Amino acid sequence: MIYLDHAATTPMAEQVAASMQPYFAKNYGNASTIYEFGEKSRQAVEHARTVIAHSLHARPNEIYFTAGGSESDNWALKGTAEAYRSRGRHVITTQIEHHAVLHTCKYLEEQGYEVTYLPVDAQGFVNLQQLEASIRPDTVLISVMFANNEIGTMEPIAQIGRIARRHEVLFHTDAVQAYGQVPINVDFYHIDLLSASGHKFYGPKGTGFLYIRDGVKTASFIHGGGQEQGRRAGTENVPGIVGIGTAAEIAMRTMSERIYRETRLRDWMIREISTRIPGVWLNGDRYARLPNNVNFSFEEIEGETLLLLLDAKDICASAASACSTGSAEPSHVLTAIGRKPQLAFGTLRMTLGEATTWEEVRVAVDAVEENVKLLREVARME
Ligand SMILES: *Cc1c(COP(=O)(O)O)cnc(C)c1O
Repeated sequence: MIYLDHAATTPMAEQVAASMQPYFAKNYGNASTIYEFGEKSRQAVEHARTVIAHSLHARPNEIYFTAGGSESDNWALKGTAEAYRSRGRHVITTQIEHHAVLHTCKYLEEQGYEVTYLPVDAQGFVNLQQLEASIRPDTVLISVMFANNEIGTMEPIAQIGRIARRHEVLFHTDAVQAYGQVPINVDFYHIDLLSASGHKFYGPKGTGFLYIRDGVKTASFIHGGGQEQGRRAGTENVPGIVGIGTAAEIAMRTMSERIYRETRLRDWMIREISTRIPGVWLNGDRYARLPNNVNFSFEEIEGETLLLLLDAKDICASAASACSTGSAEPSHVLTAIGRKPQLAFGTLRMTLGEATTWEEVRVAVDAVEENVKLLREVARME
């Protein structure tokens, strides 16, 4: 099998699974107890918190463990909207966010908040002048993703952070695709809240964290016990937290090598597909894009059919994003960058991983070329 869908999920690293193992049946102590046995679990949780804090140039008390990227996004938006309600009820985001952000914004609108959904240009970039102009006296939060999960475009996060800071508006970024792939420094970027998810960087599914800058208020997302400084109740998922901590540790150690390797594979694929196949459109920026993202729209092609043909050759790829599979609507991201529905439906996303080889990308590109040709010939005969 050739797995080219790392933006949907990544295989858990063996070292991650091994680090979790002792915390299932052997060290099962509750991390919130005071006896020695529970202390083992507590120390493991706090070690993971420290590792993740250092990876972002943050402090351990600013890291809150959650059950994944969607929860972190929900908490960041609802939590700050509620905590700062007396200051204002206006939120700014973009049209290309993940549904975990967009659907939370829709919910906030139902609760009486106003949300500005900024458009993006043909490469998927937010316009900074437009962003700044949309800030109002009652704006409490700007939420712009670090990197887009479909087209890979990396937003100008440092500039957005500076604008937010200058206007004293909170800045949240959904960094689920970026964390572990590219370096992130929350101070340099002026990030107040940041979401990440374990299964997107070789960690366990159902784990994640939210970075909340010291002094930023958020309503509790889960009410109950005093875990996570009383802000996110529930007995800690100790094996999961240990796993996401190990994944973060490995990600930081191997990052520069992975960026180098995957960027070369990505650039080769982009060049080969653009030169060998006529009628193709690269989605996302050519340079400011995630090291592992290849995304093209093909004229006169049904993306879902192309995917099935690739699947028959044991190649796993995606039409737009895992979340939109089976949807009758064209992807909101491709629509926002101006792709007409016809072209948007002819889209193929291939996202590489640390184990992806040159042989695999050669086979994949050959298969794409061959099947696009085949599908176009069939379409012309009809
Ligand atoms: C995968 C993803 C999420 C959701 O994360 P889960 O851990 O699967 O809930 C949110 N945002 C982006 C950009 C993602 O790619």
